[in-house]
Amino acid sequence: MITVIGSANMDLVVGTDNFPTQGETVLGDIFDTVPGGKGANQAVAAARLGSSVHMVCCVGDDMFGKSIVSNLQKNEVDCTGVGVVDGASGIANILLSEGDNRIIVVPGANSLLTPAHIDAMDEVIKKSKVVMFQLEIPIPTVMYALEKCREFGVPVLMNPAPAGGFKAEMLPFITYLTPNETECEQLFGVDMVDALETHPNRLIVTLGSEGARYFDGQRHVIVEGFKTKAVDTTGAGDTFNGALAHGIVEGMDLERAVRFANAAASLSVEKFGAQGGMPASEEVEKRME
Ligand code: ADP
Repeated sequence: MITVIGSANMDLVVGTDNFPTQGETVLGDIFDTVPGGKGANQAVAAARLGSSVHMVCCVGDDMFGKSIVSNLQKNEVDCTGVGVVDGASGIANILLSEGDNRIIVVPGANSLLTPAHIDAMDEVIKKSKVVMFQLEIPIPTVMYALEKCREFGVPVLMNPAPAGGFKAEMLPFITYLTPNETECEQLFGVDMVDALETHPNRLIVTLGSEGARYFDGQRHVIVEGFKTKAVDTTGAGDTFNGALAHGIVEGMDLERAVRFANAAASLSVEKFGAQGGMPASEEVEKRME
């Protein structure tokens, strides 16, 4: 069983030929609402692969909150740990124009996830084989939950995004840390090799289409990505993390779990939307053959 403690948003996607300039109104040609948020994305990724997943997050008592929950449930994510609070759900307002984007995130209910929500899930957290974190919820709540995972002896997988929320004091609580290259530099400085060697079998850096790498104590393990035609790389990291957690819970060794995660993420970039291309286990196994 996997528990995800994190964010859930509704992405409001608007497509237009030209971004408006200040004070200008323009016509758009696309509008879509797409469930997102790193926490929810990672929960859906792991659930699609067949893991039993609990989501701990907060949504607002608005229409977006209802569809965020129904999307999680449709993907067989257990929503016992979803709190509903007064006010607005988290949203990301995404403007798209000719391959360019402009995004405003309003955290809304995500910023109201408190230690009380974590306490309510003690029994589930205790039984979890991995608890997954990202950094789109209040950092004091992350710290509180990390301490709880350590108390219960439950392994932690943290995707440190956005990297600005990361605190060095989180490190001792983390079993697996999965920044992309940019986040790794923000966390540890320019010398990635030095960072990898300081955190053997713990720091796993994702390298986009190149795959991912870690240091196993003796050698640098570079796990190559799967070549594919990428249509939309949104959520590639989320699929990677959900699949890595699934692989670990299934008892794969780290190298195989990272290869499994690369394969799952390579499938996800072939379709539009963060969750749109998240694969089932059989598809991933097939890609790995
Ligand atoms: P993020 O999405 O968090 O920025 P990355 O860009 O490093 O992270 O991508 C995460 C993972 O997704 C990579 O480790 C890789 O497995 C997979 N991936 C990303 N882009 C591609 C691509 N163009 N082709 C194949 N796999 C990809």
